[in-house]
Amino acid sequence: SNESPRPYRLGVLHGDGIGPEIVPASVLAVDAAVAAAGAAPVQWVELPLGRSAIDAHGSAVPDSTLKALGDLDAWLLGPHDSAAYPEPHRSRLNPSGTIRKHFDLFANIRPATAFEGADAVVPGTDLVIVRENTQGFYADRSTYKGTGEFMPSPDVAIAMGIITRPAVERIAREAFELARRRRRKVTIVHKANVLRLTTGLFRDVCLEVAADYPDVTVDDFHIDAMTVHLVRRADEFDVVVTENMFGDILSDLAGEIAGSLGNAPSINASADRAMAQAAHGSAPDIAGRDVANPTAMIMSSAMLLDWLGGRHRDDALSEAADLIRRGLAATVRSGTLTPDMGGTAGTRRFSEAVAAAIARP
Ligand code: ATP
Ligand code: MG
Repeated sequence: SNESPRPYRLGVLHGDGIGPEIVPASVLAVDAAVAAAGAAPVQWVELPLGRSAIDAHGSAVPDSTLKALGDLDAWLLGPHDSAAYPEPHRSRLNPSGTIRKHFDLFANIRPATAFEGADAVVPGTDLVIVRENTQGFYADRSTYKGTGEFMPSPDVAIAMGIITRPAVERIAREAFELARRRRRKVTIVHKANVLRLTTGLFRDVCLEVAADYPDVTVDDFHIDAMTVHLVRRADEFDVVVTENMFGDILSDLAGEIAGSLGNAPSINASADRAMAQAAHGSAPDIAGRDVANPTAMIMSSAMLLDWLGGRHRDDALSEAADLIRRGLAATVRSGTLTPDMGGTAGTRRFSEAVAAAIARP
């Protein structure tokens, strides 16, 4: 049932390095999937971002881009190579951070899924890390005055973290709602034996939210114990909810355990907006050579369609997301692989094979 009469308008931000190769590959996959699922065609809105935007508009994230994104509810963000920007751009908050902050995209959702044929440390891993994106030790200093890092003297550096009840409540609800669409299990990760007040509050508020979800099983672990459990039995976890820094570290660990860090997708979401973003960087070393693997970006786009489908109760979009995942799996199974996967297909040939597999499942 499609309750949204308007066609979906999605932003396209190519970014730097391999972005202009892997983002169009994702657009191709989404177009094929939406058509095959019988949903309305997507209207794409291309917006400047990154190095080319610095040259053309004097900013890596021009105000015009932020303003245009404000009229959209979802977009694809290519990777950025902000370390290579000229000053003063290099010292500024990087493009994805700027957009996350501007739209308060507080939930970083990163699945770790061991695909058929993947070189997984723990085969069968199928979990999702739900990472709080705005607080903890990575909290933005301008939002929470006085937190962050400072040096009272040249030989002393101090970091402060922040956890607030409203921020934990909203990320916990994301995690429990997601668990209801999955295997109904949430694991809370904290370090409440040492960081008693901050991560203790995180754990306690998550447990309070859990009371509203009696149908979801809950457990909790200290971050150090969690790394051990992941290495041994990642396949037993479903949804993992944690604060910013722990989530950053755990999602790389989980991605690698699933054998697919290079293929790891993500979305960053608020209650009403979402941004698809591959977990990998801009790979400037291979940019422009038609060898980049677009899998992570394409998988992130599928997550975005799932998110949109949930938000607009549009089953055709969820079906389109499924078609993308199945089309990717079929392409890999057929032996069409990019060089990093041990194959000889270029980005373009691989993307066309995925689009063809989506169109004819
Ligand atoms: P960042 O700081 O932007 O996260 P990084 O230092 O983590 O960057 P990446 O840009 O992710 O680095 O690249 C790390 C290595 O992985 C590089 O050798 C790059 O070529 C390779 N790589 C990254 N993404 C891809 C991809 N999609 N396809 C093929 N190779 C990739
Ligand atoms: Mg990186």
